[in-house]
Amino acid sequence: MKYVLAILLGGLSLQAIAQEKKMKPEDTEVWTPVPKEVTTDTKGVPSDAIVLFDGTSLSAWKKAGSDQAAGWTVEQGAMTVKPGQGDIETREHFESFQLHIEWRSPLVIKGESQGRGNSGVFMQGLYEIQVLDMYDNKTYVNGQAASVYKQHIPLVNAIKKPGDWHSYDIIWTAPTFKADGAVDKKARITVIHNGIVVQNHVEVEGPTEYIGHPKYKAHGPGPIKLQDHGDLVSFRNIWIRPL
Ligand code: MG
Repeated sequence: MKYVLAILLGGLSLQAIAQEKKMKPEDTEVWTPVPKEVTTDTKGVPSDAIVLFDGTSLSAWKKAGSDQAAGWTVEQGAMTVKPGQGDIETREHFESFQLHIEWRSPLVIKGESQGRGNSGVFMQGLYEIQVLDMYDNKTYVNGQAASVYKQHIPLVNAIKKPGDWHSYDIIWTAPTFKADGAVDKKARITVIHNGIVVQNHVEVEGPTEYIGHPKYKAHGPGPIKLQDHGDLVSFRNIWIRPL
């Protein structure tokens, strides 16, 4: 009987079993470190978050790859792509983080497939989660909204009508690199779209490529970048928590 029990307990020795039996509840209690207290305000913004856009100013942003001011339009609490002004990116750079961002497809519907309300949110300036108007719009599924562009199809299509606000809550685990520049641990991403899990801790194969296969190249912290794809996509309520 003892024998059978030992096998059932996954090969624990009888001595170990005896010791386990003697243990008290407090033997497995851990009291430090104490997690710091974080609250949320009425808009759901955590008290330790860095607010990247509060609806009034693009001061946290600049034109991507330059020192020029971000040239997008700010009105009614939202920022909107100004076609031709180019991508914008945060002045601050990040590694792993939790990001909240809300976006809205243009009210005036034009174009189809990848031409319909296209933008994108880039982690560390390199890895795109697609923004696209998916309402009555067919496209390649690894390029639809909430895809890890050309890498991972979202689990479902969390759809809304053009003009309605979407939310992305993104948990990004940055890739790490070896001394020789080769990738050590690939990046991981979780995306919750309108409260629905659509990417569940998937492995990212490398920086987003429009043509061909992704390949990692060593890099440090990077910005959050938003894409000017020529469509009047809007964003609001953007905050980030470095992890
Ligand atoms: Mg895009």
